[in-house]
Amino acid sequence: MNSIICAPITETKLHTFLAKIHEAERIADAVELRGDYLTEGELTFVIKSLFVPSQKVQKPLILTYRPREQGGQKDIMFNDRLRFWRKFGGWNVITYADIELDMVERLAKTRFRIRWEKVICSWHDFAETPYDLIARYDRMADTPAAVVKIATKANRIGDCLRIFELIEHAKGKKPVIALAMGLPGLMTRALALSRGAMLTFGSLRPGAESASGQPTVAELRDLYRVKELSRDGEIFGVIGNPVSHSRSPLMHNAALKSLNRDGVYLPFEVDDVASFVCGFVHPKTRKLDWNLRGLSVTIPHKLSIIPFIDVVDATAKAIGAVNTVVIEGDELHGYNTDVIGAVKPLDEMINVKGARVAVIGAGGSARAICYGLSQREADVTIYARDLKKAQPLADEFKTRTASLESFKGQADVAINCTPIGMHGHSEGQSPINVESLKGVKLVYDLIYTPEETALLRDAKQAGCRTLGGLAMLVGQAAEQFRLWTGLEAPVDVMWRAVSMNS
Ligand code: NAP
Repeated sequence: MNSIICAPITETKLHTFLAKIHEAERIADAVELRGDYLTEGELTFVIKSLFVPSQKVQKPLILTYRPREQGGQKDIMFNDRLRFWRKFGGWNVITYADIELDMVERLAKTRFRIRWEKVICSWHDFAETPYDLIARYDRMADTPAAVVKIATKANRIGDCLRIFELIEHAKGKKPVIALAMGLPGLMTRALALSRGAMLTFGSLRPGAESASGQPTVAELRDLYRVKELSRDGEIFGVIGNPVSHSRSPLMHNAALKSLNRDGVYLPFEVDDVASFVCGFVHPKTRKLDWNLRGLSVTIPHKLSIIPFIDVVDATAKAIGAVNTVVIEGDELHGYNTDVIGAVKPLDEMINVKGARVAVIGAGGSARAICYGLSQREADVTIYARDLKKAQPLADEFKTRTASLESFKGQADVAINCTPIGMHGHSEGQSPINVESLKGVKLVYDLIYTPEETALLRDAKQAGCRTLGGLAMLVGQAAEQFRLWTGLEAPVDVMWRAVSMNS
Protein backbone atom coordinates (compact mmCIF):
# COMPACT_ATOMS: atom_id res chain seq x y z
CA MET A 1 0.00 0.00 0.00
CA ASN A 2 1.37 3.42 -0.87
CA SER A 3 0.16 7.01 -0.52
CA ILE A 4 -3.14 6.14 1.01
CA ILE A 5 -6.03 8.02 2.58
CA CYS A 6 -7.84 5.64 4.89
CA ALA A 7 -11.39 6.29 6.12
CA PRO A 8 -12.36 4.81 9.49
CA ILE A 9 -15.91 3.51 9.94
CA THR A 10 -17.14 4.75 13.30
CA GLU A 11 -20.83 3.85 13.13
CA THR A 12 -22.35 2.21 16.18
CA LYS A 13 -25.35 0.63 14.40
CA LEU A 14 -24.76 -2.53 12.42
CA HIS A 15 -26.76 -1.61 9.30
CA THR A 16 -25.18 1.85 8.95
CA PHE A 17 -21.73 0.38 9.65
CA LEU A 18 -22.20 -2.01 6.72
CA ALA A 19 -23.54 0.73 4.46
CA LYS A 20 -20.65 3.06 5.30
CA ILE A 21 -18.05 0.47 4.31
CA HIS A 22 -19.19 0.77 0.73
CA GLU A 23 -19.49 4.55 0.89
CA ALA A 24 -15.94 4.75 2.27
CA GLU A 25 -14.71 2.42 -0.45
CA ARG A 26 -15.98 4.84 -3.07
CA ILE A 27 -14.20 7.91 -1.71
CA ALA A 28 -11.11 6.65 0.14
CA ASP A 29 -8.16 4.43 -0.83
CA ALA A 30 -8.58 2.15 2.18
CA VAL A 31 -11.19 1.51 4.84
CA GLU A 32 -10.61 0.97 8.54
CA LEU A 33 -13.28 -1.12 10.26
CA ARG A 34 -13.38 0.19 13.82
CA GLY A 35 -14.67 -3.07 15.27
CA ASP A 36 -14.70 -1.62 18.75
CA TYR A 37 -17.65 0.61 17.75
CA LEU A 38 -19.77 -2.59 17.49
CA THR A 39 -20.43 -5.49 19.82
CA GLU A 40 -18.22 -8.53 19.27
CA GLY A 41 -21.21 -10.41 17.85
CA GLU A 42 -21.98 -7.61 15.35
CA LEU A 43 -18.33 -7.42 14.34
CA THR A 44 -18.25 -11.16 13.66
CA PHE A 45 -21.36 -10.70 11.48
CA VAL A 46 -19.61 -7.91 9.53
CA ILE A 47 -16.51 -10.05 8.92
CA LYS A 48 -18.62 -13.00 7.78
CA SER A 49 -20.63 -10.81 5.42
CA LEU A 50 -17.42 -9.62 3.75
CA PHE A 51 -16.87 -13.21 2.52
CA VAL A 52 -20.13 -13.00 0.54
CA PRO A 53 -19.12 -12.21 -3.08
CA SER A 54 -21.70 -9.41 -3.46
CA GLN A 55 -20.39 -7.72 -0.28
CA LYS A 56 -16.72 -8.10 -1.21
CA VAL A 57 -14.71 -4.92 -0.69
CA GLN A 58 -12.24 -4.03 -3.45
CA LYS A 59 -10.15 -1.55 -1.48
CA PRO A 60 -7.70 -2.52 1.29
CA LEU A 61 -9.39 -3.15 4.65
CA ILE A 62 -7.87 -2.59 8.08
CA LEU A 63 -9.57 -4.17 11.09
CA THR A 64 -9.17 -2.52 14.49
CA TYR A 65 -10.56 -3.83 17.79
CA ARG A 66 -9.24 -1.36 20.34
CA PRO A 67 -9.92 -1.30 24.10
CA ARG A 68 -11.11 1.91 25.71
CA GLU A 69 -7.92 2.49 27.70
CA GLN A 70 -6.02 2.70 24.41
CA GLY A 71 -8.51 5.01 22.70
CA GLY A 72 -11.15 2.46 21.68
CA GLN A 73 -14.89 2.67 22.26
CA LYS A 74 -15.47 -0.35 24.47
CA ASP A 75 -14.12 -1.87 27.65
CA ILE A 76 -12.51 -5.03 26.30
CA MET A 77 -10.58 -7.14 28.78
CA PHE A 78 -7.08 -8.19 27.77
CA ASN A 79 -8.09 -11.86 27.74
CA ASP A 80 -11.10 -11.11 25.53
CA ARG A 81 -8.83 -9.35 23.04
CA LEU A 82 -6.44 -12.29 23.18
CA ARG A 83 -9.29 -14.71 22.52
CA PHE A 84 -10.61 -12.49 19.71
CA TRP A 85 -7.34 -12.51 17.76
CA ARG A 86 -6.61 -16.17 18.53
CA LYS A 87 -9.95 -17.25 17.06
CA PHE A 88 -10.02 -14.59 14.34
CA GLY A 89 -11.14 -16.19 11.08
CA GLY A 90 -11.21 -13.19 8.76
CA TRP A 91 -7.56 -12.91 7.68
CA ASN A 92 -8.53 -13.55 4.07
CA VAL A 93 -10.91 -10.61 3.82
CA ILE A 94 -8.76 -8.02 5.54
CA THR A 95 -5.51 -6.48 4.35
CA TYR A 96 -4.29 -5.51 7.80
CA ALA A 97 -5.21 -6.01 11.44
CA ASP A 98 -4.33 -3.07 13.67
CA ILE A 99 -3.25 -4.72 16.95
CA GLU A 100 -1.98 -2.74 19.92
CA LEU A 101 1.63 -3.18 21.06
CA ASP A 102 0.76 -4.92 24.35
CA MET A 103 -1.28 -7.54 22.47
CA VAL A 104 1.27 -7.93 19.68
CA GLU A 105 3.99 -8.67 22.24
CA ARG A 106 1.71 -11.18 23.96
CA LEU A 107 0.63 -12.87 20.72
CA ALA A 108 4.25 -13.10 19.61
CA LYS A 109 4.93 -15.34 22.60
CA THR A 110 2.10 -17.76 21.73
CA ARG A 111 1.76 -20.41 19.06
CA PHE A 112 -1.51 -18.91 17.76
CA ARG A 113 -1.75 -18.67 14.01
CA ILE A 114 -1.33 -14.94 13.41
CA ARG A 115 -0.76 -13.66 9.86
CA TRP A 116 2.07 -11.36 10.92
CA GLU A 117 2.56 -10.03 7.38
CA LYS A 118 -0.90 -8.47 7.87
CA VAL A 119 -0.36 -6.95 11.29
CA ILE A 120 0.03 -3.24 12.05
CA CYS A 121 1.51 -2.92 15.54
CA SER A 122 -0.01 0.25 17.04
CA TRP A 123 0.61 2.48 20.02
CA HIS A 124 -1.32 5.59 21.04
CA ASP A 125 -0.78 8.39 23.50
CA PHE A 126 -3.85 10.56 23.96
CA ALA A 127 -2.23 12.91 26.48
CA GLU A 128 0.99 14.06 24.83
CA THR A 129 3.77 13.40 22.30
CA PRO A 130 6.58 11.85 24.33
CA TYR A 131 10.25 12.30 23.55
CA ASP A 132 11.04 8.59 23.20
CA LEU A 133 9.17 7.88 19.97
CA ILE A 134 12.22 6.57 18.12
CA ALA A 135 13.05 4.05 20.87
CA ARG A 136 9.39 3.04 20.88
CA TYR A 137 9.40 2.60 17.10
CA ASP A 138 12.50 0.38 17.34
CA ARG A 139 10.80 -1.77 19.99
CA MET A 140 7.67 -2.09 17.85
CA ALA A 141 9.68 -2.78 14.70
CA ASP A 142 11.33 -5.66 16.57
CA THR A 143 8.00 -7.47 16.86
CA PRO A 144 6.89 -9.77 14.00
CA ALA A 145 4.34 -7.15 12.83
CA ALA A 146 4.75 -5.79 9.30
CA VAL A 147 3.92 -2.13 9.96
CA VAL A 148 4.36 0.23 12.92
CA LYS A 149 1.71 2.83 13.81
CA ILE A 150 2.35 5.54 16.39
CA ALA A 151 -0.31 8.19 17.11
CA THR A 152 0.19 10.79 19.82
CA LYS A 153 -1.53 13.95 21.00
CA ALA A 154 -0.02 17.27 19.92
CA ASN A 155 -0.61 19.82 22.66
CA ARG A 156 1.35 22.43 20.75
CA ILE A 157 2.57 22.59 17.19
CA GLY A 158 6.19 21.95 18.23
CA ASP A 159 5.18 18.37 19.08
CA CYS A 160 4.86 17.70 15.34
CA LEU A 161 8.64 17.83 15.00
CA ARG A 162 8.96 14.52 16.84
CA ILE A 163 6.48 12.85 14.50
CA PHE A 164 8.46 14.03 11.45
CA GLU A 165 11.72 12.81 13.07
CA LEU A 166 10.07 9.44 13.57
CA ILE A 167 9.00 9.18 9.93
CA GLU A 168 12.55 10.09 8.90
CA HIS A 169 13.99 7.46 11.27
CA ALA A 170 11.74 4.74 9.79
CA LYS A 171 13.08 5.29 6.24
CA GLY A 172 14.41 1.99 4.91
CA LYS A 173 13.01 0.13 7.92
CA LYS A 174 9.49 -1.16 8.60
CA PRO A 175 6.74 1.01 7.09
CA VAL A 176 5.34 3.55 9.51
CA ILE A 177 2.06 5.31 10.10
CA ALA A 178 2.77 8.30 12.30
CA LEU A 179 0.55 11.22 13.21
CA ALA A 180 -0.21 13.71 15.94
CA MET A 181 -3.83 14.11 17.00
CA GLY A 182 -5.47 17.42 17.90
CA LEU A 183 -5.60 20.65 15.87
CA PRO A 184 -1.92 21.54 16.44
CA GLY A 185 -1.07 18.17 14.85
CA LEU A 186 -2.84 18.84 11.55
CA MET A 187 0.41 19.30 9.61
CA THR A 188 1.46 15.72 10.44
CA ARG A 189 -1.74 14.40 8.88
CA ALA A 190 -1.42 16.61 5.79
CA LEU A 191 2.32 16.11 5.18
CA ALA A 192 2.78 12.50 6.38
CA LEU A 193 2.41 10.92 2.93
CA SER A 194 4.79 13.32 1.21
CA ARG A 195 7.38 12.57 3.88
CA GLY A 196 7.15 8.79 3.55
CA ALA A 197 4.45 7.57 5.94
CA MET A 198 2.33 4.70 4.67
CA LEU A 199 -1.07 6.24 5.15
CA THR A 200 -3.06 9.04 6.69
CA PHE A 201 -6.59 8.93 8.08
CA GLY A 202 -9.54 11.01 6.89
CA SER A 203 -13.08 10.92 8.23
CA LEU A 204 -16.03 10.25 5.94
CA ARG A 205 -17.70 13.48 7.02
CA PRO A 206 -17.33 16.09 9.75
CA GLY A 207 -18.46 14.44 12.99
CA ALA A 208 -17.35 10.94 11.96
CA GLU A 209 -13.72 11.36 13.07
CA SER A 210 -12.08 8.47 14.89
CA ALA A 211 -9.62 10.85 16.58
CA SER A 212 -9.39 14.57 17.28
CA GLY A 213 -8.01 16.82 14.56
CA GLN A 214 -8.78 14.31 11.80
CA PRO A 215 -9.68 16.12 8.55
CA THR A 216 -12.21 14.63 6.16
CA VAL A 217 -11.13 12.49 3.22
CA ALA A 218 -12.35 15.27 0.92
CA GLU A 219 -10.19 17.87 2.70
CA LEU A 220 -7.09 15.69 2.54
CA ARG A 221 -7.62 14.78 -1.11
CA ASP A 222 -9.11 17.93 -2.66
CA LEU A 223 -8.07 20.81 -0.39
CA TYR A 224 -4.60 19.77 0.81
CA ARG A 225 -4.00 17.38 -2.15
CA VAL A 226 -1.92 15.13 0.12
CA LYS A 227 -1.51 12.44 -2.52
CA GLU A 228 -0.04 14.82 -5.07
CA LEU A 229 2.36 16.75 -2.85
CA SER A 230 6.00 15.73 -3.22
CA ARG A 231 8.69 15.71 -0.52
CA ASP A 232 10.06 18.97 -1.96
CA GLY A 233 6.66 20.56 -2.53
CA GLU A 234 6.27 24.20 -1.52
CA ILE A 235 4.68 24.75 1.86
CA PHE A 236 2.69 27.85 2.79
CA GLY A 237 0.37 28.43 5.69
CA VAL A 238 -1.36 30.74 8.10
CA ILE A 239 -0.25 31.10 11.69
CA GLY A 240 -2.79 32.25 14.25
CA ASN A 241 -4.76 31.13 17.25
CA PRO A 242 -7.50 30.22 16.70
CA VAL A 243 -6.93 29.42 13.05
CA SER A 244 -9.48 26.76 12.13
CA HIS A 245 -12.01 29.41 10.99
CA SER A 246 -9.55 30.95 8.51
CA ARG A 247 -10.67 31.16 4.87
CA SER A 248 -7.09 31.49 3.67
CA PRO A 249 -6.54 27.72 3.14
CA LEU A 250 -9.57 27.66 0.82
CA MET A 251 -8.27 30.54 -1.30
CA HIS A 252 -4.60 29.65 -1.46
CA ASN A 253 -5.06 25.92 -2.00
CA ALA A 254 -7.55 26.63 -4.80
CA ALA A 255 -4.96 28.94 -6.37
CA LEU A 256 -2.13 26.39 -6.05
CA LYS A 257 -4.35 23.68 -7.51
CA SER A 258 -5.52 25.76 -10.45
CA LEU A 259 -1.90 26.48 -11.39
CA ASN A 260 -1.01 22.81 -10.94
CA ARG A 261 1.64 23.75 -8.42
CA ASP A 262 3.41 21.17 -6.25
CA GLY A 263 2.45 22.96 -3.06
CA VAL A 264 0.05 23.18 -0.15
CA TYR A 265 -1.22 25.85 2.22
CA LEU A 266 -1.96 24.72 5.79
CA PRO A 267 -3.45 26.22 8.96
CA PHE A 268 -0.87 26.29 11.75
CA GLU A 269 -2.33 26.70 15.22
CA VAL A 270 0.50 28.54 16.96
CA ASP A 271 0.48 29.74 20.55
CA ASP A 272 4.16 30.62 20.95
CA VAL A 273 5.32 32.54 17.88
CA ALA A 274 8.99 32.62 19.01
CA SER A 275 9.37 28.86 19.22
CA PHE A 276 7.42 28.32 15.98
CA VAL A 277 9.64 30.72 14.05
CA CYS A 278 12.75 29.18 15.57
CA GLY A 279 11.75 25.52 15.12
CA PHE A 280 9.84 25.62 11.82
CA VAL A 281 10.34 28.88 9.94
CA HIS A 282 13.67 30.68 10.06
CA PRO A 283 16.10 29.00 7.62
CA LYS A 284 18.99 29.62 10.03
CA THR A 285 17.42 27.82 13.01
CA ARG A 286 14.58 25.60 11.88
CA LYS A 287 14.69 21.94 12.81
CA LEU A 288 12.33 20.72 10.11
CA ASP A 289 13.77 20.12 6.67
CA TRP A 290 10.92 21.32 4.47
CA ASN A 291 10.37 23.72 1.61
CA LEU A 292 8.48 26.38 3.58
CA ARG A 293 8.07 29.39 1.26
CA GLY A 294 5.81 31.81 3.13
CA LEU A 295 3.24 32.47 5.78
CA SER A 296 0.11 34.49 6.36
CA VAL A 297 -0.01 35.90 9.86
CA THR A 298 -3.26 36.52 11.68
CA ILE A 299 -4.54 37.36 15.16
CA PRO A 300 -2.80 37.37 17.67
CA HIS A 301 0.61 37.31 15.96
CA LYS A 302 0.62 40.28 13.54
CA LEU A 303 2.65 42.38 15.95
CA SER A 304 4.49 39.74 17.97
CA ILE A 305 6.14 38.28 14.85
CA ILE A 306 7.90 41.54 13.94
CA PRO A 307 11.02 41.04 16.15
CA PHE A 308 11.74 37.79 14.27
CA ILE A 309 11.59 39.33 10.79
CA ASP A 310 14.91 40.27 9.16
CA VAL A 311 13.50 42.84 6.73
CA VAL A 312 10.18 44.63 7.35
CA ASP A 313 8.84 46.55 4.35
CA ALA A 314 7.77 50.19 4.56
CA THR A 315 4.00 49.61 4.55
CA ALA A 316 4.21 46.97 7.29
CA LYS A 317 6.39 49.36 9.30
CA ALA A 318 3.91 52.20 8.86
CA ILE A 319 0.95 50.00 9.83
CA GLY A 320 2.93 48.37 12.64
CA ALA A 321 1.71 44.91 11.66
CA VAL A 322 3.01 42.08 9.46
CA ASN A 323 0.41 39.82 7.85
CA THR A 324 2.73 38.15 5.33
CA VAL A 325 6.13 36.49 5.66
CA VAL A 326 8.22 35.58 2.64
CA ILE A 327 11.23 33.30 3.03
CA GLU A 328 13.94 34.70 0.79
CA GLY A 329 17.22 32.82 0.95
CA ASP A 330 18.24 32.77 4.60
CA GLU A 331 16.02 35.69 5.58
CA LEU A 332 12.45 36.38 6.60
CA HIS A 333 10.84 39.35 4.87
CA GLY A 334 7.69 40.86 6.37
CA TYR A 335 4.92 42.65 4.47
CA ASN A 336 1.43 43.94 5.07
CA THR A 337 -0.96 43.19 2.21
CA ASP A 338 -4.06 44.46 4.04
CA VAL A 339 -3.54 47.98 2.68
CA ILE A 340 -3.42 47.00 -0.97
CA GLY A 341 -6.13 44.39 -0.37
CA ALA A 342 -8.42 46.99 1.16
CA VAL A 343 -7.79 49.93 -1.15
CA LYS A 344 -7.26 48.34 -4.57
CA PRO A 345 -10.94 47.27 -4.93
CA LEU A 346 -11.90 50.81 -3.97
CA ASP A 347 -9.54 52.26 -6.59
CA GLU A 348 -11.26 50.10 -9.17
CA MET A 349 -14.61 51.75 -8.38
CA ILE A 350 -13.84 55.35 -7.54
CA ASN A 351 -11.02 57.91 -7.56
CA VAL A 352 -10.69 58.78 -3.89
CA LYS A 353 -8.27 61.68 -4.36
CA GLY A 354 -9.98 64.65 -2.71
CA ALA A 355 -13.13 62.58 -2.03
CA ARG A 356 -14.81 62.86 1.40
CA VAL A 357 -14.40 59.44 3.01
CA ALA A 358 -16.10 58.39 6.25
CA VAL A 359 -14.10 55.66 7.98
CA ILE A 360 -16.34 54.01 10.58
CA GLY A 361 -14.37 52.47 13.44
CA ALA A 362 -10.81 53.04 14.54
CA GLY A 363 -9.29 49.56 14.99
CA GLY A 364 -6.77 47.52 12.99
CA SER A 365 -8.56 47.50 9.65
CA ALA A 366 -9.38 51.23 9.92
CA ARG A 367 -5.66 51.81 10.32
CA ALA A 368 -4.86 49.96 7.08
CA ILE A 369 -7.65 51.87 5.30
CA CYS A 370 -6.47 55.26 6.67
CA TYR A 371 -2.92 54.55 5.52
CA GLY A 372 -4.07 53.67 1.99
CA LEU A 373 -6.39 56.68 1.87
CA SER A 374 -3.71 59.08 3.12
CA GLN A 375 -1.43 57.94 0.28
CA ARG A 376 -4.28 58.70 -2.13
CA GLU A 377 -4.91 62.12 -0.58
CA ALA A 378 -8.53 61.43 0.35
CA ASP A 379 -10.35 63.76 2.76
CA VAL A 380 -10.93 61.37 5.68
CA THR A 381 -13.10 61.62 8.81
CA ILE A 382 -12.97 58.82 11.36
CA TYR A 383 -16.37 58.14 12.95
CA ALA A 384 -16.05 56.21 16.21
CA ARG A 385 -18.00 55.45 19.33
CA ASP A 386 -15.01 56.33 21.49
CA LEU A 387 -13.33 59.50 20.25
CA LYS A 388 -10.46 59.21 22.72
CA LYS A 389 -9.49 55.88 21.23
CA ALA A 390 -9.83 57.22 17.69
CA GLN A 391 -7.76 60.38 18.23
CA PRO A 392 -4.25 58.81 17.96
CA LEU A 393 -5.22 57.30 14.59
CA ALA A 394 -6.57 60.64 13.41
CA ASP A 395 -3.40 62.42 14.59
CA GLU A 396 -1.17 59.93 12.81
CA PHE A 397 -2.95 60.35 9.48
CA LYS A 398 -3.82 64.03 9.97
CA THR A 399 -7.57 63.46 9.76
CA ARG A 400 -10.62 64.44 11.84
CA THR A 401 -12.71 62.41 14.26
CA ALA A 402 -16.44 62.61 14.83
CA SER A 403 -18.94 60.62 16.86
CA LEU A 404 -20.65 57.75 15.08
CA GLU A 405 -24.11 59.24 15.77
CA SER A 406 -23.14 62.48 14.02
CA PHE A 407 -22.80 60.76 10.64
CA LYS A 408 -25.65 62.04 8.46
CA GLY A 409 -24.44 61.21 5.00
CA GLN A 410 -21.80 63.94 4.72
CA ALA A 411 -19.41 61.76 2.62
CA ASP A 412 -18.82 60.48 -0.90
CA VAL A 413 -17.60 57.13 0.41
CA ALA A 414 -18.49 55.36 3.69
CA ILE A 415 -16.38 52.41 4.86
CA ASN A 416 -17.46 50.17 7.72
CA CYS A 417 -14.41 49.05 9.69
CA THR A 418 -16.39 47.79 12.71
CA PRO A 419 -17.84 44.32 13.30
CA ILE A 420 -21.40 45.72 13.37
CA GLY A 421 -23.48 43.48 11.09
CA MET A 422 -21.11 40.53 11.19
CA HIS A 423 -22.39 36.97 11.45
CA GLY A 424 -22.07 35.77 15.04
CA HIS A 425 -21.66 39.35 16.29
CA SER A 426 -24.58 41.56 15.34
CA GLU A 427 -25.87 40.20 12.03
CA GLY A 428 -28.80 42.23 10.72
CA GLN A 429 -27.63 45.46 12.39
CA SER A 430 -26.01 48.37 10.59
CA PRO A 431 -23.64 51.08 11.86
CA ILE A 432 -25.50 53.72 9.78
CA ASN A 433 -29.24 54.13 9.37
CA VAL A 434 -30.66 54.06 5.87
CA GLU A 435 -31.63 57.75 5.93
CA SER A 436 -28.00 58.75 6.50
CA LEU A 437 -26.89 56.84 3.42
CA LYS A 438 -28.72 59.06 0.96
CA GLY A 439 -26.22 61.01 -1.10
CA VAL A 440 -23.30 58.67 -0.34
CA LYS A 441 -21.88 57.48 -3.67
CA LEU A 442 -20.20 54.27 -2.51
CA VAL A 443 -20.62 52.15 0.62
CA TYR A 444 -17.85 49.66 1.40
CA ASP A 445 -18.35 47.11 4.19
CA LEU A 446 -15.22 45.20 5.21
CA ILE A 447 -17.34 42.43 6.72
CA TYR A 448 -17.53 39.31 4.50
CA THR A 449 -19.80 37.09 6.59
CA PRO A 450 -22.52 37.54 5.49
CA GLU A 451 -21.49 38.58 1.99
CA GLU A 452 -24.38 41.03 1.90
CA THR A 453 -24.69 42.82 5.24
CA ALA A 454 -27.65 44.91 6.40
CA LEU A 455 -25.52 47.99 5.64
CA LEU A 456 -24.99 46.92 2.04
CA ARG A 457 -28.70 46.09 1.61
CA ASP A 458 -29.68 49.50 2.96
CA ALA A 459 -27.05 51.16 0.77
CA LYS A 460 -28.47 49.56 -2.38
CA GLN A 461 -31.93 50.69 -1.32
CA ALA A 462 -30.60 54.23 -0.85
CA GLY A 463 -29.17 54.15 -4.39
CA CYS A 464 -25.46 53.85 -3.43
CA ARG A 465 -22.93 51.67 -5.20
CA THR A 466 -21.66 48.93 -2.87
CA LEU A 467 -18.54 46.90 -2.22
CA GLY A 468 -18.38 43.91 0.16
CA GLY A 469 -15.55 42.61 2.33
CA LEU A 470 -14.74 39.61 0.13
CA ALA A 471 -12.97 42.02 -2.21
CA MET A 472 -10.47 42.87 0.56
CA LEU A 473 -10.18 39.27 1.73
CA VAL A 474 -9.35 38.04 -1.75
CA GLY A 475 -7.29 41.13 -2.57
CA GLN A 476 -4.90 40.77 0.37
CA ALA A 477 -4.53 37.04 -0.32
CA ALA A 478 -3.84 37.64 -4.02
CA GLU A 479 -1.03 40.01 -3.08
CA GLN A 480 0.40 37.40 -0.68
CA PHE A 481 0.33 34.82 -3.47
CA ARG A 482 2.19 37.21 -5.76
CA LEU A 483 4.84 37.90 -3.11
CA TRP A 484 5.40 34.17 -2.46
CA THR A 485 5.36 32.86 -6.01
CA GLY A 486 6.13 35.86 -8.22
CA LEU A 487 2.97 34.97 -10.18
CA GLU A 488 -0.24 36.91 -10.67
CA ALA A 489 -2.80 35.17 -8.45
CA PRO A 490 -5.82 33.49 -10.11
CA VAL A 491 -8.19 35.92 -8.41
CA ASP A 492 -11.40 34.44 -9.88
CA VAL A 493 -10.48 30.98 -8.59
CA MET A 494 -9.70 32.35 -5.14
CA TRP A 495 -12.91 34.34 -5.10
CA ARG A 496 -15.02 31.31 -6.06
CA ALA A 497 -13.31 29.15 -3.42
CA VAL A 498 -14.12 31.52 -0.64
CA SER A 499 -17.50 32.71 -1.82
CA MET A 500 -18.96 29.22 -2.26
CA ASN A 501 -18.20 28.55 1.39
CA SER A 502 -19.75 31.68 2.82
P1 NAP B 1 -10.74 45.88 15.65
O1 NAP B 1 -9.29 46.19 15.54
O2 NAP B 1 -11.24 45.14 16.83
O3 NAP B 1 -11.55 47.26 15.53
C1 NAP B 1 -12.93 47.30 15.60
C2 NAP B 1 -13.40 48.74 15.64
O4 NAP B 1 -14.83 48.71 15.64
C3 NAP B 1 -12.99 49.49 16.91
O5 NAP B 1 -12.78 50.84 16.59
C4 NAP B 1 -14.21 49.33 17.80
O6 NAP B 1 -14.36 50.36 18.74
C5 NAP B 1 -15.31 49.41 16.78
N1 NAP B 1 -16.55 48.81 17.27
C6 NAP B 1 -16.70 47.52 17.66
N2 NAP B 1 -17.98 47.31 18.02
C7 NAP B 1 -18.62 48.49 17.86
C8 NAP B 1 -19.96 48.91 18.08
N3 NAP B 1 -20.89 48.06 18.52
N4 NAP B 1 -20.27 50.21 17.80
C9 NAP B 1 -19.33 51.06 17.36
N5 NAP B 1 -18.06 50.72 17.14
C10 NAP B 1 -17.70 49.44 17.38
O7 NAP B 1 -11.22 45.03 14.41
P2 NAP B 1 -10.68 45.11 12.90
O8 NAP B 1 -9.55 44.15 12.73
O9 NAP B 1 -10.48 46.52 12.50
O10 NAP B 1 -11.90 44.47 12.11
C11 NAP B 1 -13.15 45.15 12.05
C12 NAP B 1 -14.07 44.38 11.11
O11 NAP B 1 -13.53 44.43 9.80
C13 NAP B 1 -14.11 42.89 11.47
O12 NAP B 1 -15.29 42.64 12.14
C14 NAP B 1 -14.05 42.16 10.16
O13 NAP B 1 -15.31 41.68 9.81
C15 NAP B 1 -13.66 43.21 9.16
N6 NAP B 1 -12.39 42.86 8.50
C16 NAP B 1 -12.45 42.40 7.23
C17 NAP B 1 -11.30 42.10 6.55
C18 NAP B 1 -11.39 41.60 5.14
O14 NAP B 1 -10.42 41.01 4.63
N7 NAP B 1 -12.51 41.83 4.47
C19 NAP B 1 -10.05 42.27 7.17
C20 NAP B 1 -10.01 42.75 8.49
C21 NAP B 1 -11.19 43.05 9.14
P3 NAP B 1 -13.77 50.27 20.22
O15 NAP B 1 -12.30 50.47 20.09
O16 NAP B 1 -14.49 51.34 20.94
O17 NAP B 1 -14.11 48.89 20.73
